[in-house]
Amino acid sequence: MSQQTAAAPGFSQRFGRVQLAASVQMSIKARELKAAGKPVVTLTTGEPNFDSPPHAIEAAHQATLRGDTKYPPQDGTRALKEAIQRKFKRDSGLHYALDEIAVSNGGKQCIFNAIMATVNAGDEVVIPVPSWIAYAQMTQLCEGVPVLVSCPQNNGFKPRAEDIDAAITPRTKWLILNNPNNPTGACCSAEEIQAIAAVMRRHPHVWVMSDDMYEHLVFDGFHHATFAEVAPDLKARTLTLSGVSKTYAMTGWRIGFAGGPKPLIKAMTVMQGQATAGTSTVGQAAAAAALDGPQDGVDVQIKAYQRRRDLAVAMLNDTKGITCHKPEGAFYVFPNVAGCLGKTTTGGRMLNSDEDVCLALLEEHYVATVHGAAYHMSPYLRISTATADDDLREGLQRIQTFCAGLR
Ligand code: PLP
Repeated sequence: MSQQTAAAPGFSQRFGRVQLAASVQMSIKARELKAAGKPVVTLTTGEPNFDSPPHAIEAAHQATLRGDTKYPPQDGTRALKEAIQRKFKRDSGLHYALDEIAVSNGGKQCIFNAIMATVNAGDEVVIPVPSWIAYAQMTQLCEGVPVLVSCPQNNGFKPRAEDIDAAITPRTKWLILNNPNNPTGACCSAEEIQAIAAVMRRHPHVWVMSDDMYEHLVFDGFHHATFAEVAPDLKARTLTLSGVSKTYAMTGWRIGFAGGPKPLIKAMTVMQGQATAGTSTVGQAAAAAALDGPQDGVDVQIKAYQRRRDLAVAMLNDTKGITCHKPEGAFYVFPNVAGCLGKTTTGGRMLNSDEDVCLALLEEHYVATVHGAAYHMSPYLRISTATADDDLREGLQRIQTFCAGLR
């Protein structure tokens, strides 16, 4: 993948290597159109449209009242780390000692800390794609090289073990796995992860990051398994990452966490120490309550995401020029828009790429989505189902009207 190096005078080359995420850019455009009075339906958002659990809010309140408002330990409060320890055991049968757990400002900072602490200039990070854009961007910030491994639709958007094997070189530092995946919702089974683990046993110099941020959001009884659980012999070089953002609708509290080998966790904490010194004590109290408290709210949300996935997949497969794979989890669908390319919209625009489709949809029918190229695979759209049912249905109907009008 090509790296941008030019930056405006006064700014670092490092800054020149990163961009504002396409999903954020599309959300900004959608907000501008909304502010101009247009009836915009936003299907770009990567966050649950539910409220945080009341017991988490109460725990935050109590934390402030008892004066839990001082600098936290840089790797997280003991109370939250104990709750995370119980969570890893409960969900994955994994034991992490307290000094094998780090808490950060969102899962995103855990990933950032890990890459900052390990990647040197020229080091390679193997990223199955489509993927969340941050992995490649963070790698480039550290002057590393993202090595993208294509996970085609005909393999359910999942990585093939042999493709991962072929991508690994002596310069490889990390393999990043993300189950369920943003943006496709694909989730590898334990058997598929086992096949990848067999490859990783042949490459002992490579760390494995298992980004399980959407681990609970799986449908039709699918069992989510994390890498270290499937391959306990590789736990000593695996970073297991999760958080409360997606499972508990707590994106704004900014709490993520990771379990991993002690030296890596320590290095990540040193990095964090220089960036943020630690994570909000109030947010940590809320996260501990979410992890330890009643989980029935999560089930309600899973049911809603499954219902919306079914609605979106059915309506998209009923749309001229679009086909849509049915994902195992998360709150995204990733329809293929190849049948729209080479056509002209009712507004007179020629569609040559998924970005053209995305912009025409927004500007002519006021539906905001994100183009697949932003996640390293074209021609697709990412549609978020973390949207009220009525808005989702309205957005999908407009996509149908848009496609029906293509000539
Ligand atoms: N990993 C993936 C795949 C994500 O999509 C996101 C957020 O969008 C994160 C990690 C980071 O989550 P957080 O909000 O906890 O930083």
